[in-house]
Amino acid sequence: MDGSPAKQNGLSSLTNGHAPNGNASSERIQIIDDEKKFTTDLTTQIQRWGLRDAGFNYDIVAVFGSQSTGKSTLLNRLFGTTFDVMDETQRQQTTKGIWMCRGQDMNVMVMDVEGTDGRERGEDQDFERKSALFSLASSEVLIVNLWEHQVGLYQGANMGLLKTVFEVNLGLFGKKSQDGTSGRTLLLFVIRDHIGTTPLANLQATLTADMHRIWESLSKPDEFKDRQLSDYFDLSFTALPHKVLAADKFEAEVRRLRNRFVDKENPEYLFKPAYHKRIPADGIPFYMENIWEQVQTNKDLDLPTQQELLAQFRCDEISAGALAEFNEQAKPQKRPIEAGKVVEGLGGMMRSWRKVALDRYDRDASRYHQGVYKRKRSDLIAALDTTLSPLFLGQLKNLHKSCLVAFKQEILNGLKGDDYSFADVVNAARTRCEKRFVEGATEAVVDDETEEGKAHWSWEEELSLLKEEVGSVADQCRKDETKKMVNQIERNFKKSITEPVELALHKAAPDMWDSILKAFKETLDKAEATYLSKARSFNCTEEENTTAIASLRKRAWQALRAKIDEQTADAVILGKLRGHFEERFRYDEHGVPRVWRPEDDIDGAFKKAKDQTLELIPLYSKITPQDPSLSYALPEDAIASSTDSSDLVEEFDFEASLTVFSETKSLDLTNKFRRDADAYYVEAKRSTVSSVAQ
Ligand code: GDP
Ligand code: MG
Repeated sequence: MDGSPAKQNGLSSLTNGHAPNGNASSERIQIIDDEKKFTTDLTTQIQRWGLRDAGFNYDIVAVFGSQSTGKSTLLNRLFGTTFDVMDETQRQQTTKGIWMCRGQDMNVMVMDVEGTDGRERGEDQDFERKSALFSLASSEVLIVNLWEHQVGLYQGANMGLLKTVFEVNLGLFGKKSQDGTSGRTLLLFVIRDHIGTTPLANLQATLTADMHRIWESLSKPDEFKDRQLSDYFDLSFTALPHKVLAADKFEAEVRRLRNRFVDKENPEYLFKPAYHKRIPADGIPFYMENIWEQVQTNKDLDLPTQQELLAQFRCDEISAGALAEFNEQAKPQKRPIEAGKVVEGLGGMMRSWRKVALDRYDRDASRYHQGVYKRKRSDLIAALDTTLSPLFLGQLKNLHKSCLVAFKQEILNGLKGDDYSFADVVNAARTRCEKRFVEGATEAVVDDETEEGKAHWSWEEELSLLKEEVGSVADQCRKDETKKMVNQIERNFKKSITEPVELALHKAAPDMWDSILKAFKETLDKAEATYLSKARSFNCTEEENTTAIASLRKRAWQALRAKIDEQTADAVILGKLRGHFEERFRYDEHGVPRVWRPEDDIDGAFKKAKDQTLELIPLYSKITPQDPSLSYALPEDAIASSTDSSDLVEEFDFEASLTVFSETKSLDLTNKFRRDADAYYVEAKRSTVSSVAQ
């Protein structure tokens, strides 16, 4: 026979936790081994038992008692567990450390505790104390298993054990735990091999008296001096007949006892809610491991702190799980948002990811210490929102951009052709743009009941930014349109002014400027009227109208001046003068070309024609009407206005612009004209000489 402890237990390390029949619910696990090490597999095992998500809907029971008093046998009978039972023929210790099984067809974790009989085995009582602490911290019912003949033996192992249990209980549950759980525990005495000569009532009385004696003898801390045994424990007693000698009765009593663990309707139901230690099933592994570690290192075990530690650990774990799943869902939407896309239905998605994460957290974490649960919940919300907020803000930004683009496009489309009202086009586009934004933004909001939350998910500021931009785009469009219109009016003006100016400058009548200015004013009035009638549909402001008209006036004047300059350029004006002179010198008053004869007064005619022509130069040189009422002055605001799109105001001297030729220029023209005229004179002279010579 292999002497290793595992083999002695009838188990190899491979089968640890795995029942041969493959049914996970009948698997057992050694949670604390004979080296006093806590298992690393409890989480997995509880999951395999299907108890992980049981919340508080489970119970824990542990058994204490001397070696070989039939504890494992009893547990297996009561709960359908698979603890090892000592082989009759070998009579040696079977269980080592603490084993755990799941009750068959019931949400019960059953602990079979070894080593509570250290006294009998002559070993140190260290493990007895540790396992008592450990069991009390989680169990609702502690079965104290003893032979009938042990009852009343105060020096017996069980009584020493109970003293330990009471002591550690005071340490653990002396103070009420913060979340109001009572830390109450049921001590269920199971008296084995009850022969029946001593009625159970008597045994019960003996045990109860012993209990109280032990309780009284405890050295209690001052604060718990007056506490009674009954403040912490309920006592219950039952007896079982001899398993071999009264096998049938034994089985019947065991079944009855089993019913008290199973049947909630049974008035003697044992798992009363008050005994529950309120550790959520999924927190049991961490909690037990921590308790064991504290026990092992002989640190003070303060259960409220333990529960808080557990809550912190589990709430963190649950939160991390929820967050991981959430991030997995959120991730694919990050890229499109960063790329500037408006993600359709983003708000709906975000709300659903968030809800799933919080629901998951709430479901699992709300069973833990409420303060911790709530604190970690706000941490989780903050973490969720850290991911959601950039998505939300990105969506707003993208929405803003796309609404603005659509707005511009709509205006562009609306302003095609001639038949549109600028104001209508812009207003319709603006309304649609804002509506689209508000709808999109509202959809993207993740509801948050808190005040900060509301601030977190507000989009009003982005809307007002959008409105501002829409406004400035509309303004720019209106300015462009206005400019376009003013340009068109200017072109028409130039066209209309050409003929009257050319005609008047050609004729060079003394009232030449009167007719030019008259034509100018009439044309300008018409242009202004055209502007005003069109500007109405542009929703232009009064100020904009004034500016536009001022600019129009200036540009009109400049156009007139350009036309005059064109018509008085050197070559042109000299041509005009030459023509004027020729008309008078080479043609008679009937327009018939003159043939000079020697007796003709060539000199006189030449001088007259020349003087008359020279008189024209001062006429041309300054824009001055004969009729003073026709004189024109460009208004101040027109002088100061800009005429190009750059808004640059060039210096403009209106007075100077009235002068067509400076004095030097006039002199220069005079000289040039004289030379031309002299040439005609010489030609005329020659023609008489040649006619005489013939
Ligand atoms: P444990 O060490 O307390 O877990 O005891 P076991 O359950 O391993 O049983 C020890 C021995 O006692 C085994 O041989 C059992 O068959 C026997 N046994 C179990 N229950 C009873 C009982 O009620 N009365 C008697 N006399 N023997 C029992
Ligand atoms: Mg056993």
